[in-house]
Amino acid sequence: MKRYALHIAGEAVAPHSGTWFDTQNPYTGEAWAHIPRGNAQDVDAAVQAAHQALTTGPWVEMTATQRGALMRKLGDLIARDAAQLAATEVRDNGKLFAEMNSQLAYIPQWFYYYGGLADKVQGATLPLDKKGYFAYTRHEPVGVVAAITPWNSPLLLLAWKLAPALAAGCTVVVKPSEFTSASTLEFAELFAEAGFPPGVFNVVTGFGAEVGTPLVEHPLVAKISFTGSDATGRLINERAGKLLKHTAMELGGKSPNIVFDDADLEQAAFGAISGIFAASGQTCIAGSRLLVQENIHDAFVQRLLAVARTARMGDPMSPDTQVGPVTTPPQYQKVLEYITIARSEGATAVLGGEKGNHDGTAPQCGQGWFVQPTIFTGVNNRMRIAQEEVFGPVLSVIPFKDEADALAIANDVRFGLAAAVWTRDIGRAIRMSDRLQAGTVWVNTYRAVSFMAPFGGYKDSGLGRENGIDAVREYLQTKAVWINSGAVAGNPFVLK
Ligand code: NAD
Repeated sequence: MKRYALHIAGEAVAPHSGTWFDTQNPYTGEAWAHIPRGNAQDVDAAVQAAHQALTTGPWVEMTATQRGALMRKLGDLIARDAAQLAATEVRDNGKLFAEMNSQLAYIPQWFYYYGGLADKVQGATLPLDKKGYFAYTRHEPVGVVAAITPWNSPLLLLAWKLAPALAAGCTVVVKPSEFTSASTLEFAELFAEAGFPPGVFNVVTGFGAEVGTPLVEHPLVAKISFTGSDATGRLINERAGKLLKHTAMELGGKSPNIVFDDADLEQAAFGAISGIFAASGQTCIAGSRLLVQENIHDAFVQRLLAVARTARMGDPMSPDTQVGPVTTPPQYQKVLEYITIARSEGATAVLGGEKGNHDGTAPQCGQGWFVQPTIFTGVNNRMRIAQEEVFGPVLSVIPFKDEADALAIANDVRFGLAAAVWTRDIGRAIRMSDRLQAGTVWVNTYRAVSFMAPFGGYKDSGLGRENGIDAVREYLQTKAVWINSGAVAGNPFVLK
């Protein structure tokens, strides 16, 4: 089996613990590689390297234009290796190769876009209200950034942090999920080839308590950019708050996908399916609550069933597969538990509701951790299945009467990551988009993202925004510089 190394100060190094843990393939259930088990010593070495790169040496000496050029080169290398990195991600997270390959092929755009932005970060001269001074602002890197990422789309979600952080001139230490560390370690090898100085990008793999905690608490880490569950996000934010560190949090969701009776129902049905069964529902933007206007409820459910029933589970590397396994054994158990909870709450599984393997009916599922695409009807918004993030292929269908009712149900949840509205009425689309409490609202589409479009959560779905021009600001701090151009010294005991 392949044995990976940590990536610290531009070197592939063994972990201080001298131990590795296995990473498993969710489709076969088999271990396929050894991942270094990092600890606080490795974290310290990585943060020291990042701090040194930030304070001395070639990275600080570079112009923003030169940094941008390195980022564009990195984008080219990712494009070159996209298929190989995608295959590594599939081996670790079980998502479809078709999906991961298109994600990887898209990631270079983050480095091109933010590489281009690097030398457009500008300060201002201030039209001061005081005579005899010239003042200007500078936007400087916030410091060493700790990026903590989840298992569902390791490199895409890392790029959302890394590209603006590098554009801002920061250096970075990444802790990927212990379930999907391999692609981040392979990606690290591209940095030297692109020409980045050692220490700009470092990876320490391992577990939350052993790597995540010391990384969050390290005195030389200035900012923590986290994507993951809201429970872990809360914990990190508490610790970071005590230590006065900056944070950005991209957390969970329970997004409403709202279908009005005047919508193009065929498109809406595809949107509903892509919202929940793509990636086996393991996406923070999953449209896990399908709100359907009551007069079309039954017919629309039939439409969904006609498409979803034929979804092919199987080997995620096969181009014919539409639904892959769930990524981790704990997640597999959690999804099955939610199915039991939904039934006990009185919801009806009109599709699926069972494991997708080990029963002889789906040999193409091998020994993978599959859950059948599942649709529950008879759900009301007070049920746990309608309020809590399942992160699996489980859809809750909830009827509504009119716009006001749809809005009330849609917003009656503690999350606010995304929402969609399906309607042909432009006025309704605008009214709904204005009032939905979500960081992203799609109209007549679902699951579209771009490096240009700000992304983040309302309410418990997060703090801060990734993507778009303003994301660079998340990694900058502003300095005001005052120059005396002729002011006469006055009373030294009085504020000027
Ligand atoms: P998780 O919170 O379990 O883990 C995320 C990362 O945090 C992992 O690297 C983990 O090792 C690390 N971690 C765990 N404990 C830690 C600690 N005490 N200190 C520091 N780090 C620690 O999340 P997950 O299960 O990997 O990912 C699924 C979750 O991520 C879902 O809730 C999903 O909605 C969310 N997510 C959000 C977005 C978004 O952009 N909003 C995108 C993808 C996933």
